[in-house]
Amino acid sequence: MSTELRIARGDQLWHLLTRLNGGHPECAEVDMEAFFPDRAPDVSEIRQAKAVCARCEISEACREFAVRTHQVGIWGGTTGRDRKEIRRARRMGETGVEEAA
Ligand code: SF4
Repeated sequence: MSTELRIARGDQLWHLLTRLNGGHPECAEVDMEAFFPDRAPDVSEIRQAKAVCARCEISEACREFAVRTHQVGIWGGTTGRDRKEIRRARRMGETGVEEAA
């Protein structure tokens, strides 16, 4: 992972924690490349990263932050693809339009 990406992610987490008035990001305790966007993690890495998020006390807020701000990498137990699906489902909910199968 590049230093720039690590710093950018740290900045975003700091921004999120400031908005939440605290909380402890579990990913601060691990050095897992799967959290980061500079390469595609494999399934095992994604599973491990999601397990870290599952025990994180700010997971829900983290996921919502990433959905709304279009972050890349693992955030709040979701991949970028997961969050794209969340945004799509929300848009459908707002419009009531179902997508063709
Ligand atoms: S939910 Fe996951 S990505 Fe977000 S702060 Fe917690 S451990 Fe990090």
